[in-house]
Amino acid sequence: MEIKRKLEILADAAKYDASCASSGSRRSTPKGGVGNSTGMGICHSYTPDGRCVSLLKILLTNSCVYDCHYCVNRVSSDVPRARFTPAEVVQLTLDFYRRNYIEGLFLSSGIPRSPDATVEELVQVARSLREEHGFGG
Ligand code: SF4
Repeated sequence: MEIKRKLEILADAAKYDASCASSGSRRSTPKGGVGNSTGMGICHSYTPDGRCVSLLKILLTNSCVYDCHYCVNRVSSDVPRARFTPAEVVQLTLDFYRRNYIEGLFLSSGIPRSPDATVEELVQVARSLREEHGFGG
């Protein structure tokens, strides 16, 4: 599956994860206008000192072995599934950052095997961004 399709699925699945104004919304302006938005995973959040920051908000995967009834990613839910590798998330984050689209990453995940294995992959992303790439976002 190509990265763009994974991004569509996993940004859409992440929009339920926490409240933010623009995540997953679609807005189009008249031709030549500015201010379009798409459901491609960039949301805004506020820092403790009141600054507004843009975040890439995605799931590592929306596959999950659990069946929490309130959750769109539950195993019994009939939705398209996708999965990023940790390396893909790192690359996407750095690419978006270099283009000045985002200042940070909001990463969550379904649990495709075990909670421990999932957290290991999340930590792998954070460690690679911080330690290998010096990402301070
Ligand atoms: S464990 Fe799985 S089904 Fe339950 S809330 Fe998390 S992602 Fe959704």
